Amino acid sequence: MQPLPPIGQETGIDLGIEAFATLSNGTRIFHPGWYRKAERALKTAQRRVSRRKKGSNRRRKAVNLLAKAHQTVRRQRQDFHHKTALALVRENDTIYHEDLQVRNMVKNHHLAKSISDAGWSAFLSILSGKAACAGRSVIAVNPAFTSQTCSGCGVLVSKGLSVRWHACPDCGTSLHRDHNAAKNIERAGQARRGAVA
Ligand SMILES: [Zn+2]
Repeated sequence: MQPLPPIGQETGIDLGIEAFATLSNGTRIFHPGWYRKAERALKTAQRRVSRRKKGSNRRRKAVNLLAKAHQTVRRQRQDFHHKTALALVRENDTIYHEDLQVRNMVKNHHLAKSISDAGWSAFLSILSGKAACAGRSVIAVNPAFTSQTCSGCGVLVSKGLSVRWHACPDCGTSLHRDHNAAKNIERAGQARRGAVA
């Protein structure tokens, strides 16, 4: 990838389970349908192997099919990560995301499994690689309060994980929870960069 000229656009990205990523302009990026299909096929292949008798021919065949299914999911995930990262790098000078290691510690424990399942770390390393080649920046920010803070006025609006909408009783800001988080991530990143510069 070649260095790209600046375009005066930045974004925060909230990495999620419902949507793979949500941008601070409200755009939501979902895993393509075939990706979920490939994941389901992988689970079926895993069950088949565990049902078959060790040392049997049928098990050997099932193991081969499982290896193929793994490869398909891996390839499709990589392809999706590359395309998504490329679009983000083209459209933004700077991309802010939550520090996943910190997020893993401060947020709920279910996320630990989700982080590896969704492949966010793999995605972020692809994103950083492309950004470096293109002369663009990817910056990790502290994830504390990114979901709970109102992106409109800054007050804390506590909500459990199941609450998917952010509605602020103070200023009336009303938007999807992940969109609100992405805006907070962008703001936190800009503040951090401002403090460093
Ligand atoms: Zn508010």
